[in-house]
Amino acid sequence: KLYNQVQESKGNIRVFCRCRPLSKEDISAGYSTVVEFEAAKDGDLGVLTGGSTKKTFKFDRVYTPKDGQADVFVDASPMVVSVLDGYNVCIFAYGQTGTGKTFTMEGPENNRGVNYRTLEELFNRARERSETFTYSISVSVLEVYNEQIRDLLATSPATKKLEIRQASEGIHHVPGIVEAKVENIKEVWDVLQAGSNARAVGSNNVNEHSSRSHCMLSIMVKSKNLMNGDCTKSKLWLVDLAGSERLAKTDVQGGRLKEAQNINRSLSALGDVISALANKSSHIPFRNSKLTHLLQDSLGGDSKTLMFVQISPSENDLGETLSSLNFATRVR
Ligand code: ADP
Ligand code: MG
Repeated sequence: KLYNQVQESKGNIRVFCRCRPLSKEDISAGYSTVVEFEAAKDGDLGVLTGGSTKKTFKFDRVYTPKDGQADVFVDASPMVVSVLDGYNVCIFAYGQTGTGKTFTMEGPENNRGVNYRTLEELFNRARERSETFTYSISVSVLEVYNEQIRDLLATSPATKKLEIRQASEGIHHVPGIVEAKVENIKEVWDVLQAGSNARAVGSNNVNEHSSRSHCMLSIMVKSKNLMNGDCTKSKLWLVDLAGSERLAKTDVQGGRLKEAQNINRSLSALGDVISALANKSSHIPFRNSKLTHLLQDSLGGDSKTLMFVQISPSENDLGETLSSLNFATRVR
């Protein structure tokens, strides 16, 4: 019910904010919490910005550090189900490194996040509808790093650059990319593992590398209505974005600088696209980055978008927190 109201009032973009707990490091350094959750259930969030000033932000939903993976998925699952009805959907996590993007999307093995729960839900719902529909589900896992696309399910190293093409029906795709057909949730887990193993190859610091690249899961769903023969195709993107933090002054050199510029470029392109969509602008600048170009079919039109803005509660992260919240406000 609420879901429909939100949809009617502001189109198909919803923004959820999730705050991680204070970390052990925050606590031992004596940092206090600057985030307040008085009316979190209504989507209200307060940030103490120093002295007695407080800035407030409004979201479709706010998750406090006490909310768990299941609490988050309850609100995301209606979107996931609409993929089976033929809608394109995009769910992504935005925020500073260390605020829980990967926790929300991937999650630890014993407390899995949106990616796994989404596929599980898709299989369960597909089974419920199996008297009327047949579904075929396949998964691609890719990474965008320095404006280059890398196929994380490719068995041999890529010989030529992967590019985005537009097929005759207008659908964007990446020719040559592996689309792994999955029949059940066990196969999904294997595919996700293969993807994250491949991600580690060739980088000497996996955490650093993953905070500087976008990790993207694409789920293709084909359905056939057994009563009338109608077929639909839809696509769901699940994206763990590169960290949104600004570069430290000491790092502004060489490779780091290029990385940072590419991250900035793609995250601002994402912000530009979403705010252009929200403002019903006549030109939507999808082509300004690989990220937005890839997501094109699942942003705008009648597709549904969900953004998780991930934040830290610590006073030590105040600047980045405000910058993420402002980004989110801009697209909302
Ligand atoms: P990011 O992907 O944004 O860099 P991570 O997902 O790696 O951040 O999270 C950083 C750390 O914080 C990890 O140790 C993670 O387990 C922990 N963490 C993040 N969010 C939560 C949460 N909601 N509850 C408990 N721990 C969390
Ligand atoms: Mg991460």
